[in-house]
Amino acid sequence: MARKVLILGETREGSLRNVSFEAIGAAKLAADGGEIVGVLIGEGIQSLGAELIQYGADRVVTVEDEKLSQYTSDGYAQAILAVIEEEKPEGIIFGHTALGKDLAPRIASKLNSGLISDVTSIEETGGNLVFTRPIYSGKAFEKKIVTDGIIFATIRPNNIDPVQKDETRTGDTSSLNVEIKDLRAIIKDVVRKATEGVDLSEAKVVISGGRGVKSEEGFEPLKELADVLGGAIGASRGACDADYCDYSLQIGQTGKVVTPDLYIACGISGAIQHLAGMSNSKVIVAINKDPEANIFKVADYGIVGDLFEIVPLLTEEFKKL
Ligand code: FAD
Repeated sequence: MARKVLILGETREGSLRNVSFEAIGAAKLAADGGEIVGVLIGEGIQSLGAELIQYGADRVVTVEDEKLSQYTSDGYAQAILAVIEEEKPEGIIFGHTALGKDLAPRIASKLNSGLISDVTSIEETGGNLVFTRPIYSGKAFEKKIVTDGIIFATIRPNNIDPVQKDETRTGDTSSLNVEIKDLRAIIKDVVRKATEGVDLSEAKVVISGGRGVKSEEGFEPLKELADVLGGAIGASRGACDADYCDYSLQIGQTGKVVTPDLYIACGISGAIQHLAGMSNSKVIVAINKDPEANIFKVADYGIVGDLFEIVPLLTEEFKKL
């Protein structure tokens, strides 16, 4: 059944995040030939509409207001609810990002709708659209179908393929006037921590360090490997607690959830809380000097040895490729 599906385009520092294109990929599966409408919320976002269309949206609706220049749940909810009221979509897809996790349940409750969160795949089986999502920290997978009402899902970054970019695609970008009122919080200023290199939650390669790196300087060989592979640096909570790195790098149950193509765990024991954040990575390589370390149970490739010997060797070999 063809459905009109609405996706929310997410931006960071003036550019669209990859998860926006993956949301279009998910919407294509859910729309079954129906129209895909991209939504952009913020200030000065009009020019990004064309890129959403090149990635497969049929048209784009923008809601611009200076009160939306920074994300607030209140402001974005008013904007997206106004678009939903206008468009009456049969499906809505957001990224399962910090923004999506905050906004989607609020919208679902306002619409009196269900929400399938953290979806990692969507497929058509026996005439049903089946959504798969990990549960129990990735130890099991749950399959869900929507039997009634709107299809509303958030998708985990890096799992659903985006549609191939087609620079010849064109479509309309229109703006919707929404009066944003009674915001309970007004953000005056955002102080961002300087982050180097690739965005951890969208990285295709993640090199993670644990307590085994032993110091802040111990991350240096990992950074060199990450540079060669175009990857991002992650960490276990053990490394964060020991002050070897910032908590923004923490991966796991109480940190970020990542699903890169390649995850290299260096000096990480593999506690269940760490596995919760990375065990769905496509290929896992573990480097640990303890052959009994739990991380080897989820690793596709295990290297028993000292990370300070092995990581520089890997960097040298990858440089040759
Ligand atoms: P360790 O367990 O100390 O392991 C260090 C490893 O390095 C060892 O296996 C050792 O053999 C190896 N090693 C040492 N030297 C070398 C060397 N030179 N070369 C190679 N290997 C070496 N943890 C997370 O990571 N993320 C979370 O989100 C998280 N949330 C938590 C939430 C709760 C409620 C609780 C209770 C805990 C949470 N934890 C989390 C903590 C978790 O239980 C572990 O304590 C933590 O993951 C351990 O970090 P680690 O593997 O770096 O350290």
